[in-house]
Amino acid sequence: MTGRKQLTLIHEDRMDAMGIAAFASLKQHGELNQDPAINEYVKCVVIAILEVIPREYGPDDGRWEVLVFEDSTPNAFALPGGKIGVHTGMLDVATTAGQLAAVLGHEVGHVLLNHGNERMSQSILADTAMNTASIAAGAAAPQYQDLVVGGLGVGAQFGVLLPFSRKHESEADQVGQIFMAEAGFYPAEAITLWQNMAQMSGEGPAQWQSTHPSDETRIAKLHANLPQAMQAYEKARASGKDPQCAPPPDEWISPEALP
Ligand SMILES: [Zn+2]
Repeated sequence: MTGRKQLTLIHEDRMDAMGIAAFASLKQHGELNQDPAINEYVKCVVIAILEVIPREYGPDDGRWEVLVFEDSTPNAFALPGGKIGVHTGMLDVATTAGQLAAVLGHEVGHVLLNHGNERMSQSILADTAMNTASIAAGAAAPQYQDLVVGGLGVGAQFGVLLPFSRKHESEADQVGQIFMAEAGFYPAEAITLWQNMAQMSGEGPAQWQSTHPSDETRIAKLHANLPQAMQAYEKARASGKDPQCAPPPDEWISPEALP
């Protein structure tokens, strides 16, 4: 998707299985939000994004699942295997459907760009106990599963706490902004989202922020990407794409109310 050469040692099926297992663990240990209006809203935005991603990853394969976790930290994640989680705290930062679409486009972007695989593969390579021959024999072989799973904190924390590199962040920002635009969300909202994030940073450490470094460079890059995203947006709107996803009234914060 980026044209960049990637080191991905782990079979796609393995990545999916790990994502699915991690999600099951999160589901078991986390508290799920039960408000139908909030769940419908998040699902509405997720579906709009999934409809524009490449066909082979699209919503039709039935594997995508989204859950809203009752958690005040502004966090969201997508895992291989088609699992998406959004914390209720994220809805206080991403205050519009467009901003939430920017978050979800970014997270789905990480999955589609195989960032988890690449990150884990780099850790495998860095492990001197594994030589190139054993990697060639298959990083996904049973004897390496503990290394892959344990060494990278897969489980309740996979995909959530491990920081992505700046390069990965930048790539996810870029494809995420295109995805949201193609889905019919105004792509400048991605910039507003990061401005909201930056404002939040004065209020103590936020998880999504600590794993997704927020800086002027990122906002500048989203600005630079905006003309291309606007083209995609205008094309989407011309073709009738106008997602009607509205946050529930009590979740909605008027822009004037923001500091
Ligand atoms: Zn990210």
